[in-house]
Amino acid sequence: MEIITKSLKIGPYDLIELPTGIFALDGGAMFGTVPKVLWEKTNPPDEKNRIPMEARALCLKSKDRIIVIDTGNGSDFVEKYGEKIGPKFAEMYGADPEKGLLKALKKNNIAPEQVTDVILTHLHFDHAGGATRALNGEIVPTFPNAKYYVQNKNLQTARNPNIREKASYLSPNFEPLIEHKVLELLDGPVQNIFPGVDLLVSNGHTLAQQIVRISDSNTGLFYCADVIATSSHVRSAWVMGYDLFPLLVIEEKQRLLKEALEKNYYLYYEHDPYCAYSSVEFDKGDYKAGQRYQVAFPNCPG
Ligand SMILES: [Zn+2]
Repeated sequence: MEIITKSLKIGPYDLIELPTGIFALDGGAMFGTVPKVLWEKTNPPDEKNRIPMEARALCLKSKDRIIVIDTGNGSDFVEKYGEKIGPKFAEMYGADPEKGLLKALKKNNIAPEQVTDVILTHLHFDHAGGATRALNGEIVPTFPNAKYYVQNKNLQTARNPNIREKASYLSPNFEPLIEHKVLELLDGPVQNIFPGVDLLVSNGHTLAQQIVRISDSNTGLFYCADVIATSSHVRSAWVMGYDLFPLLVIEEKQRLLKEALEKNYYLYYEHDPYCAYSSVEFDKGDYKAGQRYQVAFPNCPG
């Protein structure tokens, strides 16, 4: 199906797509129990069975706020993770020096100092890696004037990770936020954290992940994070092998999809390499992604 380029404005915000770079993950791990003969049609793997993944952040820009949702993998792996892990990391996940969050913002004429708020859905490195950066031998918050928001329970699990998630929660991505006193810890869902922006909480993929709902009286969009990572994951049973509690993810997904279908809201996909967002349809007893879109630059027609 053709992907249409269309700008998005919800409430006071222009929505700006921030692709921070493609990385690769094992296709089998991304689709759990779904057989390869099914997922390879929509997400063809490379010779190592890895599929391309985007780390797509989102910016909400209004007259008085510049809000960034998630921050990608980051790019300064060696400086942040040290000589032991850094180079391995760059090789395993692919660090594209031409990409990154700051470059995506710059393309949209946004300087790091202008960002007022950063919502971190959770602290896995492919979501929080760009929250901090190396500067003059120190690791500091990437956005010096911003407040960062994460669920308290997610920080606790990041600081004391279980054995399955240990490799995903890396302290240089979040401890500097605490040291610099810019991390705001939230306990549960928040309505209107900013006008028209709600934070929902999900516990199936990891503990206390935030889903962001942006809405006005006409339209809305869910920033689905890892509850629905790509448009292929809209199907109810297509859940990731990484999820801690797959049945809970299915329940959380269905709740979100039901609301999206009823209200005609869009879903925004953090990890889909082919499209940024889509509508939702119901077909043969299950949900599926409808028309797929890329986000146009805010002032572009279309
Ligand atoms: Zn995750």
